[in-house]
Amino acid sequence: MKVVMLGAPGAGKGTQAKKIAAKYNIPHISTGDIFRANIKNGTELGKKAKTYMDQGLLVPDELVVDLVVDRVNQEDCADGYVLDGFPRTIPQAEALTKALASQGQKLDYAIDVDVPDENIVRRMSGRRACVGCGATYHLEYAPTKKEGICDVCGGELILRDDDKPETVEKRLGVYHEQTQPLIDYYTNAGILKRVDGTVDIEEVFQAVVQILGE
Ligand code: ADP
Ligand code: AMP
Repeated sequence: MKVVMLGAPGAGKGTQAKKIAAKYNIPHISTGDIFRANIKNGTELGKKAKTYMDQGLLVPDELVVDLVVDRVNQEDCADGYVLDGFPRTIPQAEALTKALASQGQKLDYAIDVDVPDENIVRRMSGRRACVGCGATYHLEYAPTKKEGICDVCGGELILRDDDKPETVEKRLGVYHEQTQPLIDYYTNAGILKRVDGTVDIEEVFQAVVQILGE
C-alpha cells in the first residue's frame, strides 16, 4: 500500500503517518525528518536544506526528488510506504508519478488531513520534538509522561525553530501557494481522500483506517 499524507504544516501528517506505519507494517518516510537528521549530522545536504527550512521556505525540488525516489526503491518499501511531507509541490508530485510509472507502479491513496489555519498556530506552538529520536508530542494534546522528557528514548524535548509563530505564518503561506494545489492533482488522479484533522488523534486515525481498511 503506497500512501501520501497531505495537509498544512502541523495538521497531524506525521502523527497519523507513524500510526499507519505501525498498523500496516510499512516504512514511514518523512522528508522533514530526513533533512533534520542531515542537519544534525552536519552533511552538505543538511547545510543546504537548513538555509531554507529556517526561513519557512521549501527546500528546492532538485534536493528532494532524487532522495525520495532512491528511498522508495529500497527493499523495505517493496510492500509500500507512507510518505509524509512529500510531495509538497506539483513538480515533486509529477516526478514521483513518473518514477513510479516507469516501474509500472502507482500511489494508492493521498490522504488530506484537513485543519483550518486558525488551529494550526496553536498546534505548532505546542509541538515538542525529541532531539534524540525525533518523536513528536504536544504540550496539551499529546503530552509526555514526564514533562520535557521523551517517552521513547529519554531525550530532551525542544520547540523546533521553524515552529515559532513568525515562521509558522510563513510556512502556512507557502503551503497554500505551493502545496495545496496537490489536492486538485490527486483528486484528478482519483486517489484523494479527506479526513477531518481537528478531532482528537485517535478519532482521526479511525477515519484513516476506514479509508485504508482494517
Ligand atoms: P505535521 O506532521 O502535519 O506537521 P504533526 O503530526 O507533527 O504535524 O502534529 C503537529 C502537532 O499537533 C504535534 O504536536 C502533534 O502532537 C499535535 N497533533 C497531531 N494531531 C493532533 C490532533 N488530532 N489533535 C490535537 N493535536 C494533534
Ligand atoms: P516537515 O517536518 O515536513 O514540516 O518539514 C520541515 C521543513 O523541511 C519544511 O518546512 C521544508 O523547509 C523542508 N521540507 C520537508 N519536506 C520537503 C519537501 N518535500 N519539499 C521541500 N521542502 C521540504
